[in-house]
Amino acid sequence: MPEHFFLATTTLVPPVLWYGTALFAIGLICLILALQIFLLARHSPDAITLGLLLIALSWWDITYALYWIDAPAPTDQFWVDVTYVGVVSTPTLIFIFAIQISGLFDSSRLLRWPFFLVMAIEPILTLLALWTDQWHNLFFAGLRTNYQGVILRGGLLFWSNVIYSYLLLLLSLSILAAGYARANGIFRKQILIVLLSFAITWANSIIFVTGINPLPGTDNTPFAFSIASSLFAYALFRYRLFDVVPIARSLVIEQMKDGVLVLDANKRIVDINLAGQQWLPYVAIGDSLNQLRDQLPVTLQQLPLDHDQRLEVTLERTGRVLDLQVTQIYDLRHRLLGHLIVWREITDFKHLQAQLQHFANYDPLTGIYNRREFVRLAAIELGRAQRYEHDLALVLIDIDHFKAINDRFGHHTGDEVLRYFAAVWTAEKRAQDIFARWGGEEFILLLPETNQQQARQLVERVRGKTLTTPLAAHNEPLAIKFSAGISTHTRDETFEQLAQRADVALYQAKQNGRNQTIIAELPFAAGQ
Ligand code: GH3
Ligand code: MG
Ligand code: MG
Repeated sequence: MPEHFFLATTTLVPPVLWYGTALFAIGLICLILALQIFLLARHSPDAITLGLLLIALSWWDITYALYWIDAPAPTDQFWVDVTYVGVVSTPTLIFIFAIQISGLFDSSRLLRWPFFLVMAIEPILTLLALWTDQWHNLFFAGLRTNYQGVILRGGLLFWSNVIYSYLLLLLSLSILAAGYARANGIFRKQILIVLLSFAITWANSIIFVTGINPLPGTDNTPFAFSIASSLFAYALFRYRLFDVVPIARSLVIEQMKDGVLVLDANKRIVDINLAGQQWLPYVAIGDSLNQLRDQLPVTLQQLPLDHDQRLEVTLERTGRVLDLQVTQIYDLRHRLLGHLIVWREITDFKHLQAQLQHFANYDPLTGIYNRREFVRLAAIELGRAQRYEHDLALVLIDIDHFKAINDRFGHHTGDEVLRYFAAVWTAEKRAQDIFARWGGEEFILLLPETNQQQARQLVERVRGKTLTTPLAAHNEPLAIKFSAGISTHTRDETFEQLAQRADVALYQAKQNGRNQTIIAELPFAAGQ
């Protein structure tokens, strides 16, 4: 590389290999970054614009590089004419990008075809003017000659484009600055990085205009824009800014099955996702929660928002159950920004839970309490009877020769007998009596406020009913006979001891020939 190129104050003229190579290198970086953005962040509209901006810059850099290395071209002006596609696209894309990330505008409404058409007018007119310059001379005003190097002067349309471009950049900068002033948290950081990056391009312009260019005769503008945009693309991947906010917003939250509602500090709704709208169709962004109170389900009207909490809410009309979480949102200086409410339906889960609870406490064959639940309830009743010195009786029941029923008529009939037997007891007992399947063909009955005689009366009444059942097997009527042992409680007895005495009585009933009831003796100590 000849030394005098750095020292020369005269304009460089192509071919200048080192300048072309540098342009090509930065153009390639822009292209790779653009491809990465399209690959990784294409769900975010902001990232798409940044990707397009990098493509435009890459186009600018690489075609300009081809100009500077004096690559073969169909016409003398070809590479500059082609480069201008990137030149005119750059301010436009920066402007759109600024609108998107400033957060000042409703991008989804503003950024539609009419807007893009208007934004395309100036670039297209400029290109047409440039490409037809040889016939009207309004663009370069005859100031361009072949192999001139950097073209800094021109005619009316050349300057129109320069002024338009810088006005657009100035507008973009103002939008970003206003957005920065208004934004919070990570948004603010994001805008600051963009602002600082684009400040590079302004510094470059000043260098250019004041003539203190360290590389005289060259145009640094494509470098400045490319470096600025690459910096931002770097920030995108390094800090994953797009991922944290816009992508999370547009994709994850929107597609979440959970309802998401964001309130500002004044309880105004600032965001609600699709799932949230299905639950609250009458809610719109901008509404105040206080105004909406009457329309909310009663269980949600008094929802306290002033502290983080997780709660289960049953909606009164539909009975649907929600698992709802309220989270306070603070900014980096711990000022309250608003509230995040996330909920999901757990109705099915609650039903399942209730079913499991049922299976845990009830016997599946007969539908009455199982042994575990009986013991729990009986212990409570026994404690109460002991405390108030009330009567209480326990009856242990075992069907006689049940194995023979199974053997003769089959297991299925055996099951039917068990169900019927349980149903008779359930019908005969009082509401406050606790009846359960103790195991196999054994049942147990706890009778509060009941003495020995009353208990025996109940048992004998049931015996009368089960002897003549409507059940039939092989055309034979089925009589169910059973033995029973009754114990009544004493002051210091545990439930196990009470049950043990009933069991002994039941054994005696079996020994005595079955189909009878025996009342247990009181324990030795209690009999004194
Ligand atoms: P005992 O008069 O001495 O009580 O004679 P038993 O045949 O009633 O007593 P044993 O304990 O010898 O037999 C009880 C039978 O109950 C054995 C078992 O197969 C049957 N069994 C236990 N649970 C069930 C059930 O859920 N369904 C049916 N069908 N049979 C059951
Ligand atoms: Mg038995
Ligand atoms: Mg038996």
